[in-house]
Amino acid sequence: MSDTSIAIVGAGIVGASAALALQQDGHRVTLLDREEPCAGASFGNAGVIVNGSCAPTAMPGIAIDALRMLAQPLSPLSVRPAYFPRFLPWLFRFLAESRRERVEQNARHLHALTNRALEGWRRLTGDTELSRLIEGGGWMKVYETVKSFAATKDDRALMDENGTPYEILTASDIQDLEPQLAPIFERGIYQSDSMKLTNPDRMVRGMVDLLLDRGGNYKTFDVRSIRLGDDRIELQGPRDTMSADKVVIAAGAWSRPLCKQLGDNVALDTERGYHLMLSTDSSVLLSRPVMNGDSSFVLSPMELGLRLTAQIEFAGLDAAPDYRRVRSLLPVARRMLPGIDKAETSVWMGCRPSLPDSLPVLGFASATNNVLYAFGHQHLGITLGPISGLIIADLVAGRDPGIDLAPYRPDRF
Ligand SMILES: Cc1cc2nc3c(=O)[nH]c(=O)nc-3n(C[C@H](O)[C@H](O)[C@H](O)COP(=O)(O)OP(=O)(O)OC[C@H]3O[C@@H](n4cnc5c(N)ncnc54)[C@H](O)[C@@H]3O)c2cc1C
Repeated sequence: MSDTSIAIVGAGIVGASAALALQQDGHRVTLLDREEPCAGASFGNAGVIVNGSCAPTAMPGIAIDALRMLAQPLSPLSVRPAYFPRFLPWLFRFLAESRRERVEQNARHLHALTNRALEGWRRLTGDTELSRLIEGGGWMKVYETVKSFAATKDDRALMDENGTPYEILTASDIQDLEPQLAPIFERGIYQSDSMKLTNPDRMVRGMVDLLLDRGGNYKTFDVRSIRLGDDRIELQGPRDTMSADKVVIAAGAWSRPLCKQLGDNVALDTERGYHLMLSTDSSVLLSRPVMNGDSSFVLSPMELGLRLTAQIEFAGLDAAPDYRRVRSLLPVARRMLPGIDKAETSVWMGCRPSLPDSLPVLGFASATNNVLYAFGHQHLGITLGPISGLIIADLVAGRDPGIDLAPYRPDRF
């Protein structure tokens, strides 16, 4: 075992992955969270490991699409009026990222990571029981009209440019793959090599258990302040303090204030998302996650039921959830998949950590190589958690991570 003690702030998929990867290198690892493991966005997502995903959220034409969506009362995108002034700087940067040359660059840098997503999952969980929580079968997006499918041409062009494999499905291909879907979809996009977690919460908690079984530590600790000591990094919570040789900040959407204390002003905001759980009787109706491309929601069959995930809401970290929009999708979901139950079993809101260019922050703090950042995985944290954790371990070890990390620098905006 090495002499280096490393504290990781945040026990979501990214922090748990970094903890396991650093432990594999022999470091003394303590994973910290102010709550139980998997209390953030990693709990409630659609669980899709989208191999080779490359379309950033800021795509050409997003400004017009967004204005159209904001004008509809229950659209997939919303901004709370009270949050608008704080959201503006992020929005301007986001719109700047929708220029075609930026989109192409961002897609390349996203693909450089997502292309290694399955490798990441294999290296961290492949030889453990946890690999049973990962299922193949791909994932697909479906469209009711040839016209709405045609609107995906920019996404498909990026997949072509980056070599992401996919198939275009006709109405009968869609029925062959998912016979319980209503025969209302004319076209689909199928990524057969993508995978899914059957229970993201059980996966992250299982990773933490593995860390503990292998001699690591877990501590409930709300990190309020981070400071560079003489030779260690000092963390302070409301009641106690601790220190470590190195610290990894993997606090998802809550990472920004910690980075600020170290002099890094990171352009991180949150795209809040929602889910609605339906019964396990409903989850057997689908063999894989399916996205309704016209209404922008995903139906993901999971261990605990069918999960409907949706929405991008800009409202900051603290505003109360508004479940009306996600509930309004239930009739649309029943039209799509007529067999599903009417009754929801639970509803949830979580905070995706997002930068305007859809790329995470991976690398060293500007002030010191003893603090590392791993956050900002937006819609793809389940896909990218493990490979991000392995890259952090490479940086700590001084190994070549096999990827140019300049595009993921904290000070790129
Ligand atoms: C509706 C929805 C659907 C999604 N679907 C998918 C999908 O299908 N595929 C995919 O790849 N991704 C998906 N995502 C995105 C994915 O869930 C996130 O990118 C990912 O979970 C982020 O993980 P994280 O570890 O960075 O953050 P989190 O899971 O949010 O974890 C951060 C942790 O840090 C802790 N923390 C914060 N501040 C402190 C502090 N000061 N001190 C101590 N602890 C702290 C929090 O308690 C939390 O546990 C989806 C997200 C949503 C919302």
